[in-house]
Amino acid sequence: MSRDPRHDVLFEPVRIGPKTLPNRFYQVPHCVGFGSEKPLHQARFRGMKAEGGWGAVCTEYCAISPDSDETPFISARLWDDGDVRALSLMCEEAHAHGALAGVELHHSGVHCPRRQYRLPAIAPSQLASDYLLVVPKAMEREDIRRVQADWAAAAVRAREAGFDIVYVYGAHSYLPMQFLSPFYNKRTDEYGGSLENRARFWLETLEVVREAVGDDCAIAARIAVDALGPAGIEIHEALDFIRLADHLVDLWDVNVGSALEWSKDSGASSFFQEGWQLEWTGRVREATAKPIVGVGRLTSPDRMAEIVRSGVWDVIGAARPSIADPFLPRKVEEGRYDEIRECIGCNVCIPKSDPGGNVGCTQNATAGEEYRRGWHPERFERAANADRDVLVIGAGPAGMECAIVLGKRGMRRVHLVEAEAEIGGIMRWVPRLPGRGEWARVLNWRRIQLEKLRNVEVLTGLRLDAEGVRTYGAEIVVVATGASWAGNGLNSATHEPIAGADPSLPHVLTPEQVMVEGKRPPGRRVVVFDGEGYFMAPGLAEQLAADGYEVELLTCLDDIAPFCHETLEQALLKRRLHAAGIRMRAGVVLESISPGRVAGRDEFEEPFALGADAVVLVTQRLSNEALYLELKAGEEALRAEGVEVVYRIGDCVAPQLIADAIFDGHRLAREIDSPNPALPLPYLRERPLAAAV
Ligand code: ADP
Ligand code: SF4
Repeated sequence: MSRDPRHDVLFEPVRIGPKTLPNRFYQVPHCVGFGSEKPLHQARFRGMKAEGGWGAVCTEYCAISPDSDETPFISARLWDDGDVRALSLMCEEAHAHGALAGVELHHSGVHCPRRQYRLPAIAPSQLASDYLLVVPKAMEREDIRRVQADWAAAAVRAREAGFDIVYVYGAHSYLPMQFLSPFYNKRTDEYGGSLENRARFWLETLEVVREAVGDDCAIAARIAVDALGPAGIEIHEALDFIRLADHLVDLWDVNVGSALEWSKDSGASSFFQEGWQLEWTGRVREATAKPIVGVGRLTSPDRMAEIVRSGVWDVIGAARPSIADPFLPRKVEEGRYDEIRECIGCNVCIPKSDPGGNVGCTQNATAGEEYRRGWHPERFERAANADRDVLVIGAGPAGMECAIVLGKRGMRRVHLVEAEAEIGGIMRWVPRLPGRGEWARVLNWRRIQLEKLRNVEVLTGLRLDAEGVRTYGAEIVVVATGASWAGNGLNSATHEPIAGADPSLPHVLTPEQVMVEGKRPPGRRVVVFDGEGYFMAPGLAEQLAADGYEVELLTCLDDIAPFCHETLEQALLKRRLHAAGIRMRAGVVLESISPGRVAGRDEFEEPFALGADAVVLVTQRLSNEALYLELKAGEEALRAEGVEVVYRIGDCVAPQLIADAIFDGHRLAREIDSPNPALPLPYLRERPLAAAV
């Protein structure tokens, strides 16, 4: 395979101030949960992307001083000289692979939780945060000078650490944007009022940073060119600001949204198409001839090349696409297009990173495991027991991932056996839910990789029972039979079934019955009852509303789809459900279901009843573990047939996020030759040691 010449443009170098980007692939700043606290994790994580061909890799937001203490969130820090060494490791790794290293120096102003610092937050004006429980001190002139001096000092430390690109970061409504935006800035002195005055803080900060490091580092400004809400500025003012500041900036890193509207920047695929930000960021060229980097969950090299050729941006920025595939640029460069593991826009990496403390990814099981487990996304060592045959039962996300990694580890033969006519497990049908189409990439990428592996055979339409497994002829058996939704209403609020919940009845349905078996609710009024709090119940509600039903979404949780807050989907989702005419109610515990009626208690512990012709139960899933347990119960019979060991992975162990089911399958295969693969090997932890006392 060779590269399509249309993509050559992506491999041209780009000059940014005193530095040269080796190509047009740029990993924009993004959180990972490592900050300065886990410098070795940080270094290996960013270094892996540099190895994978990203021309620049950046830190997450990096606080310049203690009054931008982000705790309990995890940021990098360059507060003092003691922080320099931690981040220098990342620079060394980036440079070793020919990439530039960038640091997103920041001060969050009013949006600063300060759980460790404890003293007041500072901001242009004393206005309550629209995002956190904070009312700040209005900055005096001394505060302004001090913060600017801190910024310059942090930039000098950044240079010492080895960074090539130093940011004055204002996007996501942080301090420079708080000065620029009349929503946050009501000052009447020379820092408030006209655009020139509101821009003064950012311009002066750029000046002092440039003065401090300008000839040695490129200076980047990150700006949300339209807040798409009140908490920032609109595009016309952004263009005016860019004209004012252009002589001080080497690279414009542009996006949209704000702290409150981050959902519109790190847009989930359920609401935003690849490249959606171009509507706003595509206009920045009107105001500058300097290099521009933009984002928009871009994974298509055709689209990237088209953007560069059109002249609107010079550099293709990526956070999530670089997490899902750290080797995306290298694969484009070498024409290995069908190996690109495209981000699905699920945003599960966000709760994994911050506050989770260790980035993880649905598509890329190795994300965040580069240092602590030593996993490389593209390198797989031959297993010490590669002379064994492995049978993987169930071709859902966990089984597919496990079979791929076992194949790459050189096992003699891997058979992936699936009961249904198609592989994919839950991913056969989840992408058919409204807004989940891009999630099909989980299956599509794995299907292609399975086809490429000559030692892996996929057999469909074969449901194995215990006898079939025992006599199959494999020495190692991996059970990946997934999980199913409880049909009896078992739920987190009561830990009991719901009276009258029986999916053999016409008016009681499970998600699989609706989406796979085509069972239709009788009547017109349908209640979807949610005990999970993620995408399934709202997705079914939306689907049924689109099918013409009158839908009520009830949940025993205290909010609609609370996990969707963490994936930045919740507010948008609620609006979409509302627009579809779906009524929603949280805090409702269902106690009985009968034809035409559901009943229980509401959030005030008052009796609750509703007329309903049918109920769809999305209460909790239960592992399909019968086959595994039966096999384990007959170990002697297994041995007699030459089966050495049986493992289980994914939802068959416990129902979990797709990301975690895939991780589980990957983990077992990576450690298939460890002393006891059923248990994960310990991973490295970074523990701060007291400096010399
Ligand atoms: P996971 O997320 O853990 O991969 P899924 O529920 O998505 O789980 O997928 C499990 C897959 O296993 C489904 O495609 C299902 O049809 C398949 N499966 C379940 N039991 C058997 C069996 N006995 N033999 C073969 N395939 C099975
Ligand atoms: Fe993309 Fe989801 Fe991975 Fe995040 S977790 S990088 S959104 S695939």
